Amino acid sequence: MSFRLRVFLLTLVVAVVATGATAWFSLRFMAQQIDRSQQEATRHVADIADTVRAYGRRHGTWAGVSERVRQLSADNHQRIRLVNLNGQVTVDSDNLAKRAARPVVGTPTLINPRPALSLDPRQLGLIAAKADGLVLDELARYRRASVYARCLTDMGQDPPPVAPDAYGIPLPATEPEHGECAVQARDAQEYAQADDSTAVTNCRSAADHGACLVQAFGNQVETFAPEPLQLFLGAVDDDAVTLLGRPTAGAIGAVLVLSVIGTALVARQLARPLRSLTAASRRLADGHLDTRVATTGRDEVGELSRSFNRMAEALEGAETAQRRMLAGVAHELRTPMSNVLGYLEALQDGVVPPSRELFSSLHEEVLLQRRILDDLQDLTLAEAGHLAYRRTGFDLAELVEVSRVAHLAVAEHGGVRLTAEAAGPLPVHGDQDRLRQVLGNLVTNALRYTDPGGAVVLRAFPLPGRAVVEVRDTGCGIAPADLPFVFQRFWRADPARDRETGGSGLGLTIARQIVLDHDGTIEVTSTQGEGSVFRVTLPIVGAERLTPRRGSP
Ligand code: ADP
Repeated sequence: MSFRLRVFLLTLVVAVVATGATAWFSLRFMAQQIDRSQQEATRHVADIADTVRAYGRRHGTWAGVSERVRQLSADNHQRIRLVNLNGQVTVDSDNLAKRAARPVVGTPTLINPRPALSLDPRQLGLIAAKADGLVLDELARYRRASVYARCLTDMGQDPPPVAPDAYGIPLPATEPEHGECAVQARDAQEYAQADDSTAVTNCRSAADHGACLVQAFGNQVETFAPEPLQLFLGAVDDDAVTLLGRPTAGAIGAVLVLSVIGTALVARQLARPLRSLTAASRRLADGHLDTRVATTGRDEVGELSRSFNRMAEALEGAETAQRRMLAGVAHELRTPMSNVLGYLEALQDGVVPPSRELFSSLHEEVLLQRRILDDLQDLTLAEAGHLAYRRTGFDLAELVEVSRVAHLAVAEHGGVRLTAEAAGPLPVHGDQDRLRQVLGNLVTNALRYTDPGGAVVLRAFPLPGRAVVEVRDTGCGIAPADLPFVFQRFWRADPARDRETGGSGLGLTIARQIVLDHDGTIEVTSTQGEGSVFRVTLPIVGAERLTPRRGSP
């Protein structure tokens, strides 16, 4: 999986988990909150309704209830509206506060201040007359208390508190005895006594005497007790923060912390291979060229690790090559140097007499050292890609002929027949001098390793898209085991003999580099004792790219 895709997926996982957890916590707390606020609202409505109902029962009238409603509305930050069953408004807190009416929500709650008589029918079944008397008595006491309380309320006084008696009728602890209101209460009772009596007595003929008595009580109470009201409430001025509350904020905080931890873990996981790469680069920079990193995965980081290892290998290889090269150079120069030094010391000590031959030999040794150094410089430049090439279009067939002519004298001197078969033109594009150096090296080697009486043939011919030059000799050849090494620097089949002939052991290495720089190939086939064939192939170009030859060899 690619590094980019991995980063994307891991980040996505963190984001999805964080979002999911936030949503889950929010919904859960929201549901709890709504549930709780619904319960509270129900309890709240019941509390307000109870307070209002208690007022009606204690005062026997709704007169003066507005003060209580104003208080309740202020305490609850809510609009409270009381409407009778005919739709007339008894009291509205927003009207009282002289503010714009807020909308009411939900269904109204019925507030009925009229008490219902609770009688056990079995009791009634036993003694009917006693039951009648009991109902009349309760009715009389309730009417007196109710009229008395209403009278006190009208006069601006507080009526005594009431509590339900054994039959559920709210009554004060004591009967009203003195004062104007007590008189009013007794008068009202006396006035209604006959009516009450009739209503109760009518129940004697009823099928269900008990139920009839309860009904009669209710009917009589309706004539003096305060009417039922409907309670409407406006919305509470809750804000969102109250609704969300502390638990939700806590949940969001927890999810945030979890996301941060998750992202940190993901980042750590992703950064691990990069950290190990950084550490490895530092080690490499400190000179530990054998440093490698683990290459797991096919993603970008894996690719980076593999590139790092390739780079480290190249560096290590380059260093080894450099070390080998230095060792080779030291080795190659030491022998001619030692020869020169030995002769000079012998001359100094008078052990050897100075002679023309000796100086000629010393001259040869110094020339060899210079050639080694020149070749080394060429090779170093070529391998670093700094060898300057002056490229032109020229005929390779002509170059072959030029090389043949240049080496004729040496060939004749060595008793070797040197011939050329060149089917031109073979237009190539490259540095004529450097390619002549390559051919010269091949021809020199061929003449060098061919005994008198042998032959060296140069051939130039075309192949599809390529121009080929072959240098074929009938010399000593190269052993199959040695063939892979001929292009290696300082390699010689027979170091002693080659030194004799003035070879640096770098000629073929330089030749190969020059040919490679011309996008060509160089290869060798050889049979020991029969001869060798060196073959150079170069890309052929159009004849129109040929430029006039710069001069004769
Ligand atoms: P040198 O300058 O010593 O000739 P080269 O790099 O040109 O070095 O050649 C490397 C070695 O390859 C030679 O020392 C020789 O042993 C072998 N070699 C090259 N050309 C021929 C050839 N035509 N026949 C036999 N051996 C050859």
